[in-house]
Amino acid sequence: MTADTKNIVILGGSYAGLSAAHYFLKHVHPSLPDSGEQYHVYLVDPSTHFYHRVAAPRASVSFDLMPITKTFHDIAKNFEQYDAGNFTFVQGKATLLDTTRRTVTIQYSGMKKSKQTELPYHSLILATGTRAHSLILSLQGGGHEEVIEAQTKLHNELTHAKSIVVAGGGPSGVELSGEIGEILNGATCRFKKKPAVPKRRVILLCGSEKLLPVLRPALAKQAEVYLARIGVTVKYNSRVESTEKLGNGHTKLSLDNGESLVCDLYLPATGVTPATGYIPYELLDDRGYVKTNPETLRVDQAGARVYAIGDVGDYSRGGIMDIYDAIPVLMTNIQRDLLVAHKDDDAISPGGDRKYKKNNSETQLVPIGRSKGVGAFNGSRLPTLMVYMIKGRDYLSGAAVEIVTGSKWNKQV
Ligand SMILES: Cc1cc2nc3c(=O)[nH]c(=O)nc-3n(C[C@H](O)[C@H](O)[C@H](O)COP(=O)(O)OP(=O)(O)OC[C@H]3O[C@@H](n4cnc5c(N)ncnc54)[C@H](O)[C@@H]3O)c2cc1C
Repeated sequence: MTADTKNIVILGGSYAGLSAAHYFLKHVHPSLPDSGEQYHVYLVDPSTHFYHRVAAPRASVSFDLMPITKTFHDIAKNFEQYDAGNFTFVQGKATLLDTTRRTVTIQYSGMKKSKQTELPYHSLILATGTRAHSLILSLQGGGHEEVIEAQTKLHNELTHAKSIVVAGGGPSGVELSGEIGEILNGATCRFKKKPAVPKRRVILLCGSEKLLPVLRPALAKQAEVYLARIGVTVKYNSRVESTEKLGNGHTKLSLDNGESLVCDLYLPATGVTPATGYIPYELLDDRGYVKTNPETLRVDQAGARVYAIGDVGDYSRGGIMDIYDAIPVLMTNIQRDLLVAHKDDDAISPGGDRKYKKNNSETQLVPIGRSKGVGAFNGSRLPTLMVYMIKGRDYLSGAAVEIVTGSKWNKQV
């Protein structure tokens, strides 16, 4: 950064961080006054490739059904459309945020010797999201190659495993067990009302007495019916307390209800943990998410021009729709800030910020296998065919392309 360059640092290159970077370069950057100052966007992620993790359940069973080219997208290549003087992709991981000195320490990845640098920021966007408890379902702070390796290993294991246990009654667990059930036990038939006699045993453990917390009970029950048709049995009120690898390669699971289960393959799909290890604890809530102003998306306690977006912020209930709603708000507010900071770093933008409004409606689409699914949008139940058409067909692969190429944000919202 030269004395006249102002760094816009975006941490995390996934749905939220990519959207923020594209929107900034397309709409905010060109609107800033041209008076000798330069704005440079640094997008930081340890992975060179964006992982469209929504498609993880199908990619985890077969790359023929969900090719690698649809789940992983080269980040740097998709930013070649911008002037290189305005954008840099940094393959690295934020390890320390210092809000007093306004710097982020970045540990570079992809190099033989670990190297780190301090990156000063004029504006900072935190978009480091969350990590699932399994490498197949999310990046874990390393490169995308690790995920491909874990998924390849799983494909191999699935060809031999006779008993598979998936833990987690949320959408990831239901989708993953559905994909496994269908690939191992065959597709469900439109008129088949009775549960299949499964060739392989697939059990889905649900920690409570209902699947899919976001959806109404009738849809959760319907999910159980669809799962049963492809040989997946749901066990309710069963949480895994500990796991033990047995000598014969099997895994023993001890459950909180006192029961135990032995299986060939155990796959946890039990929620996520925020990726906020580099953030000072006073900026985090008691679950480890970034304390974010739910209207302005600013991290008020971090000083001027620091924002959070996506799953990492405590304002969000998670999900891509939420990011779509938040991006125009965040970008309007950063633009307002930069227009006044252009004259005086400590100036506060006059007038009110653009405000984000949380959408708490019953909205979730959950494919079950390759032809069925349950879901609701804005409180209205969707028929199974609609869930298939919107999501089950290809797990929103088109939306991933729009995000990584930036075409989602061609127009200012
Ligand atoms: C299996 C599965 C299925 C899902 N299906 C759906 C769905 O159908 N619809 C939906 O709306 N949502 C779905 N979700 C949720 C959706 O994936 C999240 O809402 C979304 O990924 C959040 O995006 P994000 O950009 O906030 O963060 P993430 O996608 O979590 O990405 C965070 C990024 O930050 C990077 N990062 C982490 N730590 C650091 C660091 N220290 N420094 C720099 N970079 C870092 C990571 O490498 C990653 O690229 C699903 C999630 C899972 C796991």
